[in-house]
Amino acid sequence: MSSGNNSQQPSLVGGHAEWIKGATESTIGSVTGSQAWTTSGEQAKAHAVDTMKAAGENRDPSIQGYGKVEQKLGQVAGCEGMVKEGAASKNGARVMDESEEEVDTRIESLLRQRQSLTDDLLARPYDLILYIQRALVYADLAYPDLAAGDAYRALLLTDEVRDESFEYHEQALEALKSHADGPLLDVLEHGSLLGSQSRLPELDGGAKDIPALASLTSIRCYQILSLNLLLCGCLKSASKFCERGLALSPQNQELLNTRSYIQTVAERRTRKPSSGVNDLPDWGMVRREIYPWNSYEPNRFSEDSLDFLNTELATMAPKCTVQVAELPVLLECPSRTDGYDIIPTCSQLGLFAKEDIAPGEDVLVEYSLVTANNRLKESVCDACSGELPPLGSESTAVNCPDCYDTVFCDQYCFEQAQNLYHPAVCDKDVDSIAKDPDAKEADSSLHLLLLARVLAMAAHQGINPLDVNQIKYIWGDFISSKTNEIDLSPNAGPPPDWTLPFSFAYNIETPLHILEKMDIDIYATLADYDVWVFNTLYSKFRGTASARKNPRDGRPDVAAVHPFWCLANHDCDPNVTWDWGGRMVLKAREKRIVDDAPGGIRAGEEILSHYCDVDLPVKQRREWARGSLGGWCMCHRCRQEATDAENTPE
Ligand SMILES: [Zn+2]
Ligand SMILES: [Zn+2]
Ligand SMILES: [Zn+2]
Repeated sequence: MSSGNNSQQPSLVGGHAEWIKGATESTIGSVTGSQAWTTSGEQAKAHAVDTMKAAGENRDPSIQGYGKVEQKLGQVAGCEGMVKEGAASKNGARVMDESEEEVDTRIESLLRQRQSLTDDLLARPYDLILYIQRALVYADLAYPDLAAGDAYRALLLTDEVRDESFEYHEQALEALKSHADGPLLDVLEHGSLLGSQSRLPELDGGAKDIPALASLTSIRCYQILSLNLLLCGCLKSASKFCERGLALSPQNQELLNTRSYIQTVAERRTRKPSSGVNDLPDWGMVRREIYPWNSYEPNRFSEDSLDFLNTELATMAPKCTVQVAELPVLLECPSRTDGYDIIPTCSQLGLFAKEDIAPGEDVLVEYSLVTANNRLKESVCDACSGELPPLGSESTAVNCPDCYDTVFCDQYCFEQAQNLYHPAVCDKDVDSIAKDPDAKEADSSLHLLLLARVLAMAAHQGINPLDVNQIKYIWGDFISSKTNEIDLSPNAGPPPDWTLPFSFAYNIETPLHILEKMDIDIYATLADYDVWVFNTLYSKFRGTASARKNPRDGRPDVAAVHPFWCLANHDCDPNVTWDWGGRMVLKAREKRIVDDAPGGIRAGEEILSHYCDVDLPVKQRREWARGSLGGWCMCHRCRQEATDAENTPE
């Protein structure tokens, strides 16, 4: 075969990139509830399989194989052919295939390594080598987002080592020195990293030159960051770190490979030749789960949890209780079960009336401090995000005496803020972060600012952010770790659809920046402020936070999490209406939507709220609700209307 034929061959990387695109589009579809997206994603996957097969048949892995990186890339993207080739070129003809038992053992062993490295890090938090080691374990566990988080902390520490004026210079230098004697560390023996650098200069005593070692280590950080951010789908950040690494080590083969993967994936995803790095997409999807090591999630159905929630609820909804409710299992897609009498259910918490509630009566009035506002100059209360009262001598508004710019609507909000979070951010210049964003970043900035509020609450109260009462009991639409797992076998099917939106800036960089502004040592407090903690908080906000749009330009600019309001489950025939001003208020409806039935709620009935526009017809309603509910709405009204529509000739 002449070499000219090569360009005619189906490209393995191309087929693989197409699969990434397919996976991403179906994920976007299930998040936005857009059926068109989902369908196009499924088709792209099918086409990708064909391309992969054709490519695989035309290649000889032992000559043209890609090795471990490609195997991993293929695994994460679910490309059968690429995994097979990666394994084949790495191990000769032997193709890796594990039994389920071997998989479990492998994961358990990696989880033990993760725990032991975490314990080491808590004892030696400025040791950048430990962060790199843990990043590699996270990568093997298929948490590329967490791997990137650790590599980023390691990268920051390489700067601390090299610059005497930096805050943690001494600690970082001491920690790296402890590794400098003896042979170069295993973690740095990677790819062509050592070969691409001239040998590390040795000092007179035979010890290594520490700044040179830090510099070499930073290249290893760029390798880990760029590859793992690519695996998350954060192409812009991946590309930036890749280029920074190549600037230090232009011949580095692993970085050159990563650069070409980024280009291929970018062209497939944006469907045009890649232009500037700034046009690359930077949001991806990562695993949304209760991490196996997360010991903070309460058993929400336990007596203790229910007692706590009911005590809190008593003041804001005196006629209600929190109980375990049976909800229909939400389906991934339309199904034939709409007409069935019995459908699968699962347990979830819900709000129930314990006394009769009259039509028009308040059901719940909830005050929340977990609020955010993304405009720099906006006349809303810093605590509750309600409108500030008009200025004047009669005004109830209160300024913080220590940072004049922070205003509260009244003495109550000021005191709540002082008790629960404000001193952690008072006069710390945290206020300007993520304010006045582009229109397309409005939602993300609100989620970030909610995160910032919970971090301030945790810091002020001296607890882990996941122990903050206002968010502890929120269910974050988690999926089991097992379902999120990537099958390493070459015979694996498509990869799981990860469901937590993720970007380097919002999930790693800016949260750490906020903590630094709050004068928090981001290394010594790793136990409380690890990236997996941020991800868990985001999982809880998404789907439960409500936002208000500014009437002037229609952009969402204020958001809040009301943990008790969101305990009321969704139904397209709700028995309450809701409104959020300074307080979130649920009111019993005067009239129901279905058949204009009379409003009011009887003792024992569940409080049914709504997370989508219930005036829409069933099809649109279900598509819309999919984004906030995480699946196809299976409420009684939806199933009834869908069955009716099917039985009525058009
Ligand atoms: Zn207020
Ligand atoms: Zn203040
Ligand atoms: Zn419904």
